[in-house]
Amino acid sequence: MEIPIMHYLDNSATTQVCPEAAQAALSAMTQDFGNPSSTHTVGREAKKLLDRSRASVASALGCTPAELIFTSCGSESDNWALLSGAESMKRRGNHIISSVAEHDAVRRSLDLLEERGFEVTRLKPGPSGAVSVDAVREALREDTILVSLMLVNNETGAVTDIAGVSAMLKAAGSQALLHTDAVQAVGHIPVNVVEDNIDLLSSSAHKFHGPKGVGFLYARRGIRLISLIEGGAQERGRRAGTENVPGIAAMAAALREAAAKMDESSAVITEKRDRLIKGLSEISHSALNGDAAKRLPGNVSFCFEGIEGESLLLLLDDKGICASSGSACTSGSLDPSHVLLAIGRVHDVAHGSLRLTIDETISDEDVDYIVSSVKEVVDYLRGFSPIWRDLCSGKKQFIL
Ligand SMILES: *Cc1c(COP(=O)(O)O)cnc(C)c1O
Repeated sequence: MEIPIMHYLDNSATTQVCPEAAQAALSAMTQDFGNPSSTHTVGREAKKLLDRSRASVASALGCTPAELIFTSCGSESDNWALLSGAESMKRRGNHIISSVAEHDAVRRSLDLLEERGFEVTRLKPGPSGAVSVDAVREALREDTILVSLMLVNNETGAVTDIAGVSAMLKAAGSQALLHTDAVQAVGHIPVNVVEDNIDLLSSSAHKFHGPKGVGFLYARRGIRLISLIEGGAQERGRRAGTENVPGIAAMAAALREAAAKMDESSAVITEKRDRLIKGLSEISHSALNGDAAKRLPGNVSFCFEGIEGESLLLLLDDKGICASSGSACTSGSLDPSHVLLAIGRVHDVAHGSLRLTIDETISDEDVDYIVSSVKEVVDYLRGFSPIWRDLCSGKKQFIL
């Protein structure tokens, strides 16, 4: 059997490490291998690399280096932001606003906060996939202390107007801290914590061509962070543990690369994305999830009626296409995506979901191959789907 060329279309699950980041990691492992807390020359070199990396990431975000804490992943950053945000404000109220479409790292932290006595309002996103500024305004109360909304949704690619939310909070005279899970946004769309007036922001390197196992939390000066890891005085006493210098140096290199070519690559990616969307829209009884324009440049999310997303993925994999049905974190569970249900997709439709997340290496020929492969596989699966038969015979009503 001929082995198909690999098409990696799952960049929202993780990305390939870029050469600049790999080089930075290698050099930190072999050259600047010291412990940044050691006072000798080798240690001081590692400390300098750590400081340079922090300054580099801070300048990309518009914050000061002291406001940036390196973490082990996006999930840690989300947990830390929510637990700290709520804890540091608890004398002033106990109401938190978030959404039902958040990543599990935020959803589980909110559950934990509820168990500790906080009250959480989980807003529903509109059909665009994003929570509107108006919805947040309506939910806002005197005792609201924290608002947590993701900047870009990992399944639908929907972009939240986070600058609009922060402006509204300010105009309303609210005391609430604003946290955003920006894991899908950083390195892909412009993010500036000062211009957008954000108090807490989470990010993860492996979503922007850096390595896995390293991320950061931005916490505006003055926000007291609770301690999750006790030990040494690293990260200004806020997070113990010898710093992941190779990962951090690689993350900084990846972010520099992403920022330098963002305009150019997002134009290319958007064009390919729209070509993909146009092609897939030709499949009968299909629908794009989320808004056609207000979405992450590389995100294509579809539902196809009458099929199972999981079978679609397996058959696409045979054709060399690595895709996802939604979130990598929840695949393996048989429940349809909570995000797709939240934007109004019914169970049967949400089951037939496909997420393609592309980067700038994709060509027009790749796009055409992908579209024809998806068409072929959807047709094939519908050929023996009992649900499809019921839809065609009129026993069930088409929704899409
Ligand atoms: C991937 C992801 C996370 C978790 O990041 P990890 O580094 O994998 O822990 C959190 N939020 C969103 C939106 C994500 O896409």
